Parts: sequence; structure tokens; C-alpha cells
Amino acid sequence: MRKQKVHIKSFGCQMNKLDTEMVTAAFARAGFELIDSYEDSDIVLINTCSVREHAETKVFSHLGRLKHLKKSNPELVVGVIGCMAQRLGSELLNHDVVDIVCGPAQIPQIVDMVREAIGTKQKKIRVKEKIREKNSDAETQALENFESVYDKGDKRIPGQAFVRAMRGCNNFCTYCIVPYVRGPEISRPHQAIIDQIKRLADEGTKLVTLLGQTVNSYEYKAGDKTYCLADLLEMASEVDGIEWVRFVTSYPTQKYFEQIMNTMADIENVCNYLHMPAQSGSDRILKAMNRHYTSGEYLGLIDKARTIVPDISIAGDFIVGFPSETEEDFQQSVELVKKAQYRNAFVFKYSPRPGTTSEKRLADDIDAETKKRRNVELLAVQEKISEKLSEEFLNKKVKILVEGLSKKPHLNKADHQGNPQLIGRTAEDYIVVFNGPTELAGNFTTVKITKTSPLTLFGEMI
Ligand code: SF4
Repeated sequence: MRKQKVHIKSFGCQMNKLDTEMVTAAFARAGFELIDSYEDSDIVLINTCSVREHAETKVFSHLGRLKHLKKSNPELVVGVIGCMAQRLGSELLNHDVVDIVCGPAQIPQIVDMVREAIGTKQKKIRVKEKIREKNSDAETQALENFESVYDKGDKRIPGQAFVRAMRGCNNFCTYCIVPYVRGPEISRPHQAIIDQIKRLADEGTKLVTLLGQTVNSYEYKAGDKTYCLADLLEMASEVDGIEWVRFVTSYPTQKYFEQIMNTMADIENVCNYLHMPAQSGSDRILKAMNRHYTSGEYLGLIDKARTIVPDISIAGDFIVGFPSETEEDFQQSVELVKKAQYRNAFVFKYSPRPGTTSEKRLADDIDAETKKRRNVELLAVQEKISEKLSEEFLNKKVKILVEGLSKKPHLNKADHQGNPQLIGRTAEDYIVVFNGPTELAGNFTTVKITKTSPLTLFGEMI
């Protein structure tokens, strides 16, 4: 019998990419063929993101493209999974081309849902009705089973893997949809995480990134001990074959912060990298965002991180144009960026997400032009800082984990030996472009930096 062909398209954050890898692995195990082009597929799955309006718009335009495909192949099964599935539920199911809607909590059922939909043309929906309600033990176990069998992902960057430390979020930042689509914060059992890392290491994984919306609040109680992220980092770093361990994303809080930074300082293979979104430099706006710190407290954490781990590389996130943000508030964000000396900062224009507190209670009163201008201005401030930090690498040798072929032609395409351009990253998450043999993908190498730009280092392999 011909294998059914599945194409999975993924939007959104690292958490979503991990879900996509798990779903891909589940379909491969169930005997489906995974293919890269949706035009030749029997089943198209779209893993969606709700964090920004733009991400949802992209999903709808993709669904629009599938309309033509469905006309020529009425048997085509189209499924929407992920955050949009949870947020829009039956509204999405009413879309002409959609056959399946499956929320993040029901993801272990996706293969069965597809099997049921093939040939029956019956629409199916499984989303959690009360998303803030704690999962039943059976639901938690199903998610854990689905997660823990996942190991090998063909699409993964060679030598690297993401491992979820926790699901959901309890913070309720007023602009954020995550608590309403991903449910309450749940930390996975430490042993399940470490066992998964051991299996990944056996397959050649060298860098593991622990994932969580607020990964530094990881807490799992077993017997008399409560395991925190620092414990997880230490245990992960001791797994044979694992050379680097990272974690994203951190919420700015004192709790466990010193312990985590001390672990980073003491254990060589815990990467000196911290991604800790600030979102704003204005205390008034931080309060309106329901972020539980002031800009002074945030900078205090940054100082502490640099005192304990002097060469730490720090990345931040900002939102510009949050409701009522004045020019003065914005300038406080500019000041914070200057003081924080990030290696990189991601800047987003505020867009109200339906169902969130800010959407319900605060007028989206900053016009698009102003949001755009503030976005450009903040990025420009950051670019100067990134440029200066990058220049410090000139003529230095850096150890990198090679990811594979560079997609952008930054330097010459191939060197005189015919080696193509490769891309890799340092432990501190600096991108390095150099010429080398493709077999290096998934391995470490050393590169001498010969040229720099704000976000990329260029060099020669030693
Ligand atoms: S910490 Fe805030 S921004 Fe981050 S996922 Fe939770 S609610 Fe969203």
C-alpha cells in the first residue's frame, strides 16, 4: 500500500518548532511519509502561533493557498495544530479547507485524528475547553509519553536538540496570549528530561537547549528535594556526549537567579548565554504590562549576572508602542538598552491579541507610524552596541558548533579548495560564517575571526 504523504508547516517560536519535530517523529513512526512540498501531499498540517497578529495572518494566507490544492485534490486532509487551534477552535474548523483542529494539549492524538479523517471527510476538533484548568493525570501522562518517545528528528540542526523543561505560563503579562493557549505552568519530571537528553546524546547530540516560556522558574518536587533549573543544568551537563547546555527563555526574577548564574560560572559546558526579555525600560509601562519588576531591578539582575559570569552574553526582547507609551517611556527603553549592553535585542511592535487583558482594557492608541519609528530607533541603538561587541572578536579564535551550509552569501561562495560557506555558533550564541567541508555539520571546530558585522562574525577555519 502506498504510504500517505504528510507535509508539516511550522510557524512561531522554538516551542512550536519542537512540537513540529515531535509531530513529525510521530507520523514517521506511524508509517507516514514526510515530504517537503505541500503540493504533493495527502495531508497538510500547519503548526500555528498566536503570539503576534502577523503570525496568524500568515497562517490564513497559507490556508488560502491550500484552497486551490483542495479543489484539485478533494481527498486532501488539512489540519491546524498549535496555539491558533486552541485560540480559535471551531471558528477555524469552519474555514473551507480545514478538516482538523487540534490544540497543544491534544497533540498526542494528532496521528489518530488524521487517520480518522482520511477518506471520511468528517471535520474533527479537539481543543481543551478550560485551558487554565490543570491537566488530568491521564492528559499529563499522554503529553509526557508523546514527548519522551521523541528523540531523532531528521529536520533538526545536526548535533543540536531542544528539550522541553516545562509547559505553559502563570505570569499573565497583559499583552500575552500564551497563558490562554498553552495553559498553566507545568514542569516535567527531572528524570524524564535527563533520560531524554541521554537518548539524544547517544544519537550524537552535543548541544541541548532546555525550553520553557519562563524556564528559570522550573521546579519539580521528587521526594524531599525540589529540583530547579540549576539542578537540571548540572545533571544535563554530566550526560556523556553533551558538551554544551543552554536554556531559554528567562523571566527577570531573583528566585533561583544567583544559583543559576553560579552553575553557569562553575560548569564549563553550561553556555554563558542568557536570554532575558525586559520588554520596556519604563516602570509605568512595565506595571501596565503586569511584569513583576522595575527597570532598576532588571538592571540589578544583569549586573549580578555579569559579576558572577563576567563574559556572559545577554539577549533581550522589547515591545514598542504598548498602549499609552509616551516618548519619555520609550526613551527609558532606549536608556535600558544602552545600559544592558545586550549582545542582541529583539524588538517587536505591540499588537493587541484578542482575549488578553491589554486588548480588553487598554486602547491601542499608538499609531503605526510611531510604532515603526520607535522600532527602527531602538534597533539602531542596539545595532551600534552589537557592532562594538562583535569587533572585540577580531583576530580571536572561537570554538563553534557547526550547523551546516550558510543560506546567505555573506562572503565568497566557496574558497580556493572548493569548500562552501558554513554557519556555526559560539557557546554565547554568536553566529560565525566561514568556509569549510560540509561534513563538519554537527561537529565543533575553531575559527579565527577576520571580519565582523553587528550580528555575524566571519572567519577562517584553523
Ligand atoms: S512570561 Fe509573560 S510574556 Fe512570557 S509567556 Fe508568560 S505571560 Fe507571556
